[in-house]
Amino acid sequence: MRISKRCQGVSPSMTLAITSKAKALIKEGKDVVNFGVGEPDFNTPIHIREAAKAAIDGGATRYTPAAGTPELKAAICKSFKERGLNYEAAQVVVSNGAKHSLFNAMQAILDEGDEVILPAPYWVTYPELIKLSGAVPVIVPTDENLMLDMDAMKASITEKTKAIVINNPSNPTGAVYSTELMKQVAELAIAHDLAVISDEIYDQLIYDGDAPVSIATLPGMQERTIVINGVSKTYAMTGWRIGWLAAPLPVAKAITALQSQCTSNPNAIAQVAAIEALTASQESVISMREAFKERRDYAVNRIKNMDGVSCPTPGGAFYIMLDVSDVYGKAYEGKKIESSMDFASTLLDEKLVATVPGIAFGADAFVRLSYAASMEDIQKGLDRIEKFVKAMQ
Ligand code: PLP
Repeated sequence: MRISKRCQGVSPSMTLAITSKAKALIKEGKDVVNFGVGEPDFNTPIHIREAAKAAIDGGATRYTPAAGTPELKAAICKSFKERGLNYEAAQVVVSNGAKHSLFNAMQAILDEGDEVILPAPYWVTYPELIKLSGAVPVIVPTDENLMLDMDAMKASITEKTKAIVINNPSNPTGAVYSTELMKQVAELAIAHDLAVISDEIYDQLIYDGDAPVSIATLPGMQERTIVINGVSKTYAMTGWRIGWLAAPLPVAKAITALQSQCTSNPNAIAQVAAIEALTASQESVISMREAFKERRDYAVNRIKNMDGVSCPTPGGAFYIMLDVSDVYGKAYEGKKIESSMDFASTLLDEKLVATVPGIAFGADAFVRLSYAASMEDIQKGLDRIEKFVKAMQ
Protein backbone atom coordinates (compact mmCIF):
# COMPACT_ATOMS: atom_id res chain seq x y z
CA MET A 1 0.00 0.00 0.00
CA ARG A 2 1.29 3.45 -0.89
CA ILE A 3 1.83 5.94 1.93
CA SER A 4 0.37 9.38 1.21
CA LYS A 5 2.78 12.22 0.49
CA ARG A 6 1.34 14.06 3.49
CA CYS A 7 2.29 11.21 5.84
CA GLN A 8 5.62 10.56 4.18
CA GLY A 9 6.54 14.13 5.01
CA VAL A 10 6.16 13.60 8.76
CA SER A 11 9.51 12.88 10.41
CA PRO A 12 9.60 10.20 13.07
CA SER A 13 10.77 11.59 16.39
CA MET A 14 14.54 11.98 16.27
CA THR A 15 14.59 11.33 19.98
CA LEU A 16 12.99 7.93 19.56
CA ALA A 17 16.25 6.03 19.07
CA ILE A 18 17.80 7.31 22.27
CA THR A 19 14.57 7.03 24.28
CA SER A 20 14.03 3.43 23.26
CA LYS A 21 17.67 2.67 24.06
CA ALA A 22 17.19 4.18 27.53
CA LYS A 23 14.02 2.14 28.04
CA ALA A 24 15.75 -1.08 26.96
CA LEU A 25 18.60 -0.41 29.43
CA ILE A 26 16.11 0.25 32.25
CA LYS A 27 14.35 -3.03 31.38
CA GLU A 28 17.69 -4.83 31.66
CA GLY A 29 17.82 -3.53 35.24
CA LYS A 30 20.50 -0.88 34.52
CA ASP A 31 20.61 2.13 36.85
CA VAL A 32 19.68 4.71 34.20
CA VAL A 33 19.12 8.34 35.22
CA ASN A 34 16.42 9.60 32.91
CA PHE A 35 16.74 13.29 32.05
CA GLY A 36 14.89 12.65 28.79
CA VAL A 37 11.27 12.78 29.93
CA GLY A 38 8.89 15.59 29.07
CA GLU A 39 6.37 15.09 31.84
CA PRO A 40 6.14 15.83 35.56
CA ASP A 41 7.33 12.91 37.71
CA PHE A 42 4.54 13.60 40.22
CA ASN A 43 1.32 11.62 40.27
CA THR A 44 -1.92 13.44 39.41
CA PRO A 45 -3.13 15.00 42.71
CA ILE A 46 -5.47 12.73 44.65
CA HIS A 47 -8.51 15.04 44.58
CA ILE A 48 -8.40 15.06 40.77
CA ARG A 49 -8.17 11.28 40.62
CA GLU A 50 -11.09 10.99 43.06
CA ALA A 51 -13.19 13.36 40.94
CA ALA A 52 -12.61 11.15 37.91
CA LYS A 53 -13.61 8.01 39.81
CA ALA A 54 -16.80 9.70 40.99
CA ALA A 55 -17.45 10.88 37.40
CA ILE A 56 -17.49 7.30 36.17
CA ASP A 57 -20.03 6.26 38.79
CA GLY A 58 -21.96 9.48 38.26
CA GLY A 59 -22.54 8.63 34.60
CA ALA A 60 -20.05 10.91 32.82
CA THR A 61 -19.53 8.10 30.35
CA ARG A 62 -21.29 9.39 27.25
CA TYR A 63 -20.51 11.72 24.37
CA THR A 64 -20.26 15.36 25.32
CA PRO A 65 -20.48 18.37 23.00
CA ALA A 66 -17.61 18.07 20.50
CA ALA A 67 -15.74 21.12 21.81
CA GLY A 68 -16.11 20.16 25.48
CA THR A 69 -18.73 20.38 28.23
CA PRO A 70 -20.18 23.78 29.20
CA GLU A 71 -18.87 23.22 32.75
CA LEU A 72 -15.29 22.69 31.62
CA LYS A 73 -15.46 25.59 29.18
CA ALA A 74 -16.75 27.82 31.99
CA ALA A 75 -13.80 26.76 34.19
CA ILE A 76 -11.38 27.46 31.32
CA CYS A 77 -12.92 30.89 30.62
CA LYS A 78 -12.57 31.70 34.33
CA SER A 79 -8.90 30.71 34.32
CA PHE A 80 -8.31 32.83 31.20
CA LYS A 81 -10.05 35.74 32.93
CA GLU A 82 -7.64 35.47 35.86
CA ARG A 83 -4.90 36.04 33.30
CA GLY A 84 -6.54 39.08 31.77
CA LEU A 85 -8.21 37.30 28.83
CA ASN A 86 -11.93 37.52 28.18
CA TYR A 87 -13.32 34.68 26.10
CA GLU A 88 -16.85 33.42 25.71
CA ALA A 89 -17.42 29.67 25.86
CA ALA A 90 -17.94 29.38 22.08
CA GLN A 91 -14.38 30.62 21.54
CA VAL A 92 -12.93 27.70 23.50
CA VAL A 93 -12.35 24.24 22.03
CA VAL A 94 -11.27 21.43 24.35
CA SER A 95 -9.28 18.67 22.65
CA ASN A 96 -7.31 15.50 23.33
CA GLY A 97 -4.31 17.31 24.76
CA ALA A 98 -2.65 20.60 23.80
CA LYS A 99 -0.85 18.79 20.98
CA HIS A 100 -4.23 18.07 19.42
CA SER A 101 -5.24 21.72 19.95
CA LEU A 102 -2.10 22.79 18.10
CA PHE A 103 -2.89 20.39 15.27
CA ASN A 104 -6.42 21.79 15.03
CA ALA A 105 -5.16 25.39 15.14
CA MET A 106 -2.70 24.83 12.28
CA GLN A 107 -5.27 22.97 10.18
CA ALA A 108 -7.74 25.80 10.68
CA ILE A 109 -5.59 28.76 9.67
CA LEU A 110 -2.84 27.48 7.36
CA ASP A 111 -2.95 26.72 3.65
CA GLU A 112 -0.58 25.02 1.24
CA GLY A 113 2.62 27.08 0.86
CA ASP A 114 1.99 29.46 3.77
CA GLU A 115 5.09 30.19 5.84
CA VAL A 116 5.16 29.98 9.63
CA ILE A 117 7.93 31.56 11.69
CA LEU A 118 9.24 29.13 14.26
CA PRO A 119 11.94 30.27 16.71
CA ALA A 120 14.62 27.62 17.36
CA PRO A 121 15.26 25.76 19.60
CA TYR A 122 11.67 24.61 19.07
CA TRP A 123 9.52 21.86 20.50
CA VAL A 124 9.89 18.85 18.14
CA THR A 125 6.21 18.69 17.23
CA TYR A 126 5.77 22.20 15.79
CA PRO A 127 7.55 21.72 12.44
CA GLU A 128 5.70 18.46 11.82
CA LEU A 129 2.29 19.98 12.57
CA ILE A 130 3.10 22.96 10.33
CA LYS A 131 4.09 20.60 7.51
CA LEU A 132 0.97 18.47 8.02
CA SER A 133 -1.12 21.56 7.35
CA GLY A 134 0.67 22.07 4.03
CA ALA A 135 2.58 25.10 5.32
CA VAL A 136 6.34 25.57 5.56
CA PRO A 137 8.21 26.06 8.85
CA VAL A 138 10.68 28.96 8.64
CA ILE A 139 13.17 28.27 11.41
CA VAL A 140 14.60 31.38 13.06
CA PRO A 141 17.40 30.94 15.60
CA THR A 142 17.13 32.66 18.99
CA ASP A 143 19.97 34.76 20.44
CA GLU A 144 22.86 33.60 22.65
CA ASN A 145 20.57 33.67 25.72
CA LEU A 146 17.96 31.62 23.86
CA MET A 147 15.66 34.65 23.71
CA LEU A 148 13.71 35.61 20.59
CA ASP A 149 15.88 37.44 18.08
CA MET A 150 13.51 40.12 16.79
CA ASP A 151 15.82 41.26 13.98
CA ALA A 152 16.12 37.71 12.68
CA MET A 153 12.37 37.26 12.93
CA LYS A 154 11.73 40.46 11.02
CA ALA A 155 14.24 39.46 8.34
CA SER A 156 12.50 36.12 7.80
CA ILE A 157 9.12 37.62 6.90
CA THR A 158 8.00 37.28 3.27
CA GLU A 159 4.68 37.85 1.53
CA LYS A 160 3.88 34.18 2.27
CA THR A 161 4.30 34.52 6.04
CA LYS A 162 1.03 33.70 7.75
CA ALA A 163 1.80 33.04 11.40
CA ILE A 164 4.33 33.03 14.23
CA VAL A 165 4.55 30.24 16.83
CA ILE A 166 5.43 31.41 20.33
CA ASN A 167 5.97 29.01 23.23
CA ASN A 168 6.21 30.94 26.49
CA PRO A 169 7.74 29.50 28.70
CA SER A 170 9.59 27.44 26.14
CA ASN A 171 10.18 23.76 25.72
CA PRO A 172 13.06 22.95 25.27
CA THR A 173 14.84 26.08 26.55
CA GLY A 174 12.85 26.99 29.66
CA ALA A 175 13.12 30.62 28.48
CA VAL A 176 10.42 32.98 29.75
CA TYR A 177 9.84 35.89 27.39
CA SER A 178 9.37 39.33 28.91
CA THR A 179 6.34 41.56 28.33
CA GLU A 180 8.64 43.88 26.37
CA LEU A 181 9.61 41.05 24.01
CA MET A 182 5.96 40.04 23.61
CA LYS A 183 5.14 43.64 22.72
CA GLN A 184 7.75 43.51 19.96
CA VAL A 185 6.30 40.26 18.61
CA ALA A 186 2.83 41.81 18.75
CA GLU A 187 4.04 44.85 16.82
CA LEU A 188 5.54 42.60 14.15
CA ALA A 189 2.37 40.51 13.90
CA ILE A 190 0.16 43.58 13.57
CA ALA A 191 2.47 45.30 11.06
CA HIS A 192 2.47 42.23 8.78
CA ASP A 193 -1.07 41.04 9.52
CA LEU A 194 0.14 37.72 10.98
CA ALA A 195 -1.60 35.25 13.26
CA VAL A 196 0.14 34.16 16.45
CA ILE A 197 -0.17 30.67 17.88
CA SER A 198 0.76 31.12 21.53
CA ASP A 199 1.45 27.85 23.34
CA GLU A 200 1.25 28.67 27.06
CA ILE A 201 1.19 25.11 28.40
CA TYR A 202 4.03 25.82 30.89
CA ASP A 203 2.67 29.18 32.10
CA GLN A 204 2.20 27.99 35.69
CA LEU A 205 5.69 26.50 35.90
CA ILE A 206 7.75 29.65 36.39
CA TYR A 207 10.34 30.25 39.07
CA ASP A 208 11.48 33.86 39.09
CA GLY A 209 8.38 35.99 39.38
CA ASP A 210 4.93 36.33 37.95
CA ALA A 211 3.49 34.24 35.14
CA PRO A 212 4.52 35.64 31.76
CA VAL A 213 1.98 37.88 30.09
CA SER A 214 -0.07 36.16 27.40
CA ILE A 215 0.59 37.87 24.08
CA ALA A 216 -3.18 37.79 23.48
CA THR A 217 -3.66 40.36 26.28
CA LEU A 218 -1.73 43.02 24.34
CA PRO A 219 -3.71 45.62 22.35
CA GLY A 220 -4.87 44.36 18.96
CA MET A 221 -3.69 40.81 19.64
CA GLN A 222 -6.65 38.77 20.89
CA GLU A 223 -8.23 38.88 17.43
CA ARG A 224 -5.09 37.47 15.79
CA THR A 225 -3.97 34.99 18.46
CA ILE A 226 -4.83 31.38 19.18
CA VAL A 227 -3.94 30.63 22.80
CA ILE A 228 -3.10 27.03 23.68
CA ASN A 229 -3.09 25.53 27.17
CA GLY A 230 -4.03 22.36 29.05
CA VAL A 231 -3.76 20.32 32.21
CA SER A 232 -0.83 18.04 31.30
CA LYS A 233 2.07 19.98 32.79
CA THR A 234 0.42 22.17 35.44
CA TYR A 235 -1.48 19.35 37.12
CA ALA A 236 0.72 16.34 36.26
CA MET A 237 -2.05 15.01 33.98
CA THR A 238 -0.16 14.05 30.82
CA GLY A 239 -2.03 10.78 30.41
CA TRP A 240 -5.50 12.27 30.73
CA ARG A 241 -5.28 14.03 27.37
CA ILE A 242 -7.06 17.31 27.95
CA GLY A 243 -5.86 20.51 26.30
CA TRP A 244 -7.65 23.49 24.83
CA LEU A 245 -7.42 26.54 22.67
CA ALA A 246 -9.13 29.91 22.63
CA ALA A 247 -9.48 31.72 19.33
CA PRO A 248 -11.52 34.34 17.46
CA LEU A 249 -15.05 32.99 17.08
CA PRO A 250 -14.96 32.02 13.36
CA VAL A 251 -11.71 30.08 13.97
CA ALA A 252 -13.12 28.33 17.04
CA LYS A 253 -16.24 27.41 15.04
CA ALA A 254 -14.16 25.97 12.19
CA ILE A 255 -12.09 23.97 14.67
CA THR A 256 -15.21 22.70 16.43
CA ALA A 257 -16.53 21.42 13.09
CA LEU A 258 -13.16 19.83 12.24
CA GLN A 259 -12.92 18.12 15.61
CA SER A 260 -16.54 16.95 15.51
CA GLN A 261 -15.68 14.97 12.36
CA CYS A 262 -12.24 13.75 13.45
CA THR A 263 -12.41 12.72 17.09
CA SER A 264 -15.76 13.94 18.49
CA ASN A 265 -15.38 15.13 22.06
CA PRO A 266 -12.35 14.63 24.30
CA ASN A 267 -12.70 11.96 26.97
CA ALA A 268 -15.75 12.74 29.13
CA ILE A 269 -14.25 11.48 32.40
CA ALA A 270 -11.01 13.38 31.87
CA GLN A 271 -13.07 16.53 31.25
CA VAL A 272 -14.58 16.18 34.74
CA ALA A 273 -11.09 15.66 36.15
CA ALA A 274 -9.95 18.83 34.36
CA ILE A 275 -12.80 20.84 35.93
CA GLU A 276 -11.64 19.64 39.35
CA ALA A 277 -8.04 20.55 38.48
CA LEU A 278 -8.97 24.09 37.45
CA THR A 279 -11.54 24.89 40.13
CA ALA A 280 -10.31 23.17 43.32
CA SER A 281 -7.48 24.36 45.57
CA GLN A 282 -4.26 25.07 43.66
CA GLU A 283 -2.10 23.87 46.59
CA SER A 284 -0.69 20.96 44.60
CA VAL A 285 0.37 23.31 41.77
CA ILE A 286 2.22 25.47 44.28
CA SER A 287 4.01 22.54 45.86
CA MET A 288 5.00 21.01 42.49
CA ARG A 289 6.28 24.42 41.38
CA GLU A 290 8.35 24.74 44.56
CA ALA A 291 9.86 21.28 44.02
CA PHE A 292 10.75 22.12 40.40
CA LYS A 293 12.31 25.41 41.47
CA GLU A 294 14.49 23.69 44.07
CA ARG A 295 15.64 21.19 41.45
CA ARG A 296 16.29 23.88 38.85
CA ASP A 297 18.35 25.93 41.30
CA TYR A 298 20.40 22.90 42.31
CA ALA A 299 20.99 21.72 38.72
CA VAL A 300 21.85 25.17 37.31
CA ASN A 301 24.23 25.84 40.19
CA ARG A 302 25.98 22.50 39.62
CA ILE A 303 26.30 23.14 35.88
CA LYS A 304 27.67 26.66 36.41
CA ASN A 305 30.47 25.08 38.43
CA MET A 306 31.35 22.49 35.79
CA ASP A 307 34.09 22.88 33.21
CA GLY A 308 33.32 22.23 29.55
CA VAL A 309 29.55 22.70 29.69
CA SER A 310 27.28 25.66 30.44
CA CYS A 311 23.63 26.69 30.43
CA PRO A 312 21.51 29.83 30.48
CA THR A 313 19.30 29.87 33.60
CA PRO A 314 15.84 28.73 32.51
CA GLY A 315 13.01 30.72 34.10
CA GLY A 316 10.26 28.17 33.54
CA ALA A 317 9.08 24.73 32.38
CA PHE A 318 11.33 21.88 33.62
CA TYR A 319 14.13 21.79 31.09
CA ILE A 320 17.73 22.93 30.91
CA MET A 321 19.57 23.35 27.64
CA LEU A 322 23.09 22.19 28.36
CA ASP A 323 25.58 23.72 25.93
CA VAL A 324 28.01 20.91 25.19
CA SER A 325 29.57 22.38 22.04
CA ASP A 326 32.88 23.10 23.80
CA VAL A 327 33.64 19.38 23.93
CA TYR A 328 32.95 18.81 20.22
CA GLY A 329 36.12 17.47 18.65
CA LYS A 330 37.15 15.71 21.89
CA ALA A 331 36.67 12.01 22.64
CA TYR A 332 35.46 9.91 25.58
CA GLU A 333 37.54 6.72 25.83
CA GLY A 334 38.22 6.85 22.11
CA LYS A 335 34.63 7.72 21.14
CA LYS A 336 34.65 10.97 19.22
CA ILE A 337 32.02 13.58 20.19
CA GLU A 338 31.11 15.81 17.29
CA SER A 339 27.40 16.45 17.67
CA SER A 340 24.59 16.48 20.21
CA MET A 341 23.62 12.98 19.08
CA ASP A 342 27.20 11.73 19.72
CA PHE A 343 27.17 13.38 23.16
CA ALA A 344 23.76 12.02 24.16
CA SER A 345 24.30 8.49 22.91
CA THR A 346 27.82 8.13 24.37
CA LEU A 347 26.61 9.58 27.69
CA LEU A 348 23.85 7.00 27.75
CA ASP A 349 26.12 4.09 26.75
CA GLU A 350 28.97 4.97 29.07
CA LYS A 351 27.35 6.71 32.03
CA LEU A 352 23.71 5.60 31.86
CA VAL A 353 22.28 9.12 31.70
CA ALA A 354 19.49 9.72 29.16
CA THR A 355 19.21 13.22 27.63
CA VAL A 356 17.67 14.49 24.40
CA PRO A 357 20.12 15.63 21.69
CA GLY A 358 19.55 19.27 20.78
CA ILE A 359 19.48 18.44 17.07
CA ALA A 360 15.91 17.26 17.68
CA PHE A 361 15.03 20.87 18.57
CA GLY A 362 17.09 22.45 15.80
CA ALA A 363 19.95 23.29 18.18
CA ASP A 364 22.91 20.94 17.79
CA ALA A 365 25.11 22.77 20.34
CA PHE A 366 22.94 21.48 23.20
CA VAL A 367 21.45 18.47 24.91
CA ARG A 368 18.19 18.92 26.81
CA LEU A 369 17.99 17.83 30.42
CA SER A 370 14.58 17.45 32.03
CA TYR A 371 14.62 17.97 35.79
CA ALA A 372 11.24 16.30 36.19
CA ALA A 373 13.19 13.71 38.18
CA SER A 374 13.87 13.10 41.88
CA MET A 375 16.54 15.22 43.59
CA GLU A 376 18.53 12.05 44.19
CA ASP A 377 18.50 11.25 40.46
CA ILE A 378 19.39 14.82 39.56
CA GLN A 379 22.42 14.68 41.86
CA LYS A 380 23.47 11.29 40.54
CA GLY A 381 22.93 12.27 36.88
CA LEU A 382 24.89 15.51 37.20
CA ASP A 383 27.73 13.70 39.00
CA ARG A 384 27.92 11.34 36.04
CA ILE A 385 27.80 14.16 33.47
CA GLU A 386 30.59 15.98 35.33
CA LYS A 387 32.81 12.87 35.30
CA PHE A 388 31.95 12.19 31.65
CA VAL A 389 32.98 15.67 30.51
CA LYS A 390 36.07 15.73 32.75
CA ALA A 391 37.34 12.49 31.20
CA MET A 392 37.16 13.82 27.65
CA GLN A 393 40.37 14.40 25.77
N1 PLP B 1 3.28 22.15 23.95
C1 PLP B 1 4.51 21.95 24.44
C2 PLP B 1 5.50 23.05 24.34
C3 PLP B 1 4.85 20.74 25.05
O1 PLP B 1 6.07 20.57 25.56
C4 PLP B 1 3.89 19.71 25.11
C5 PLP B 1 4.23 18.40 25.67
O2 PLP B 1 5.36 18.00 25.77
C6 PLP B 1 2.62 19.96 24.58
C7 PLP B 1 2.35 21.19 24.00
C8 PLP B 1 1.56 18.91 24.54
O3 PLP B 1 0.88 18.77 25.72
P1 PLP B 1 -0.34 17.77 25.82
O4 PLP B 1 0.11 16.67 26.73
O5 PLP B 1 -1.45 18.56 26.44
O6 PLP B 1 -0.68 17.28 24.46
